[in-house]
Amino acid sequence: SRKRLVIGNWKMHGTLAGNASLLADLRSGAGEAGACELAVCAPFPYLAQVQSLLQGSAVSWGAQDLSVHEQGAYTGEVAGAMLNDFSCRWVLVGHSERRALHGETDQLVADKAAAALAAGLTPVVCVGETLAEQEAGRTAAVIARQLAPVLALGAQAVARMVLAYEPVWAIGTGRTATPEQAQQVHASIRAMLAALGTSQVRVLYGGSVKASNAASLFAMADIDGALVGGASLVAQEFLRIAAA
Ligand code: 13P
Repeated sequence: SRKRLVIGNWKMHGTLAGNASLLADLRSGAGEAGACELAVCAPFPYLAQVQSLLQGSAVSWGAQDLSVHEQGAYTGEVAGAMLNDFSCRWVLVGHSERRALHGETDQLVADKAAAALAAGLTPVVCVGETLAEQEAGRTAAVIARQLAPVLALGAQAVARMVLAYEPVWAIGTGRTATPEQAQQVHASIRAMLAALGTSQVRVLYGGSVKASNAASLFAMADIDGALVGGASLVAQEFLRIAAA
């Protein structure tokens, strides 16, 4: 009863011309909204273009980050209300690249998730361990630590979120967690959600998801969809993942 959700994270890729053809292909290829919900998270400058080319289609859209602040003297930041001006439905928060390259802490990520909810957006809260953490057998502890301030927002808040498990060692490396490896982590996240009374929250998997491995990941009981980087930049590949 958790509808499958596949979200493309374009990261810092795109041009007006390239996006136009990718979005046109997604629009026609997605057809009617089927068994799978489909979305793209684009760089801020392209949100107006994404809105104009996807509105009325089966594909929804969002951004890759937002500010914890509502407005003010925060040069370079983008507020949730601004994302609403472009009819964003989703916003990624706590992507590992934001955590690693921009010093985002577990608490800041939770604050951003709260800011997204306050703006009426659905935060897609990303968690995941590094290779060193995985090799040290610390995966479960790291995920629990990252999620703690998010879960502390309470059941009502968490029920309105989407979570994404993205092992850092599988991002952009071509190295995917095995479906069983991913399922094990997803099951532990599901247990934390169940303890909170929010069993309907969707938990996506991310990290080198492709058309060729999507079906085996989606076959796992607690994997509710995918957060797709590189493969979301190629319309046919992205659509095949959604159809897997
Ligand atoms: P790749 O699919 O390119 O490995 O990226 C995954 C990711 O980070 C999505 O947010």
